[in-house]
Amino acid sequence: MNDDILFSRPFRAPGELGNLDAVLSSDHAHGDGAFTASASARLRELTGSPALLTTSCTHALELAALLLEIGPGDEVVLPSFTFSSAAIAVVARGAVPVFADLDETTGNIDPESLAAAITSRTRAVTVMHYGGVPVDLAAVEAVTRPAGIPIVEDNAHGLGGLTLDGRRLGTVGAFGTQSFHDTKNVHCGEGGALLVNEGRYLERAEILREKGTNRARFLRGEIDKYTWQDAGSSYLPSELNAAVLDAQLAAFDEIQANRLRVWAGYAAGLAPWAAENGVRLMSDDRALRHTSHLFWLQLPTEAARDGLLAHLRTLGIRAAFHYVPLHSSPAGRRLGRTAGTGADAAVLERTDRFASHLVRLPLWAGLTDAQVERVVAGVRSYTLDPTK
Ligand SMILES: *Cc1c(COP(=O)(O)O)cnc(C)c1O
Repeated sequence: MNDDILFSRPFRAPGELGNLDAVLSSDHAHGDGAFTASASARLRELTGSPALLTTSCTHALELAALLLEIGPGDEVVLPSFTFSSAAIAVVARGAVPVFADLDETTGNIDPESLAAAITSRTRAVTVMHYGGVPVDLAAVEAVTRPAGIPIVEDNAHGLGGLTLDGRRLGTVGAFGTQSFHDTKNVHCGEGGALLVNEGRYLERAEILREKGTNRARFLRGEIDKYTWQDAGSSYLPSELNAAVLDAQLAAFDEIQANRLRVWAGYAAGLAPWAAENGVRLMSDDRALRHTSHLFWLQLPTEAARDGLLAHLRTLGIRAAFHYVPLHSSPAGRRLGRTAGTGADAAVLERTDRFASHLVRLPLWAGLTDAQVERVVAGVRSYTLDPTK
């Protein structure tokens, strides 16, 4: 159907084409030019932390693992309900991801399950703010601080968000990682950033990002030539990506306001239906904050979830489920584990339930109010079968 409501559509920022033309006309399209500087400065203003642009959030997570010197024999605790990136950054260093369960009110890592997964080999904890709803970082810090374990915040959903106690998401851990994949609120096709929240990591982060060289210092005029200093890779995006990102970040407030408009339309339009049908909505009860990255529903059963997705498909509305839990994925079973061993290995029941009962509705800045109403009406026209 031509009038299908797409699940996600990248935002078009007014300055994109002009910025791209400026790069292509400038004879400087490789990384760390004027648009990288401008986009990094905008990120710094938004977050308060030094931000290094990367080619992806995955690469920012890899950089964080390198900087934390994670290696064979080490473990990193992370949520099972997240994208594969957090786990592959760990296994790339020869370490073991240990998967924790979630809090069903948010989809975020549960601090108690996290605490149970800590061992003497735990070298870091990665958290992810699902939908930009903040993880209870004070509770996580109560576990990690006494043990001196650093936190990495996978903040792919949470740019511009705040913790429950008012700190900026991505800036509480040693590192925060951002994604500018074209399914995220702000995008440049593929891209990311590493927020370096502890000054002692900054110089080495610059070196690892730029093929192990001190080119960043050279570009600042601090040295007269740059040389190979350390390990690393090529984690810097081209100026073409930075040019689009810079234009998107300039429109950040407009993007967020429009996404919030859609989010609030769903929340208000679906509340009575959800209450009648035993459906839980992502909500801002308990003063939960979010960045309008996504809007989720929890159906009472997996069959009801599958039924709603199929019903919406017949109406031309593209809804989706989300992550297949890492602990039950083929690689997760082979390369990772849950807390405990053998017969005592933790079963992540809440993660399995949350993942299998989840529906996400279309959410992007360009959705019209009429489309939002059509989605709301579509969901409300779904009748749950009480026998399933
Ligand atoms: C999108 C996403 C990633 C991966 O981002 P890339 O920029 O594509 O590498 C990682 N973690 C989470 C939570 C994501 O949503």
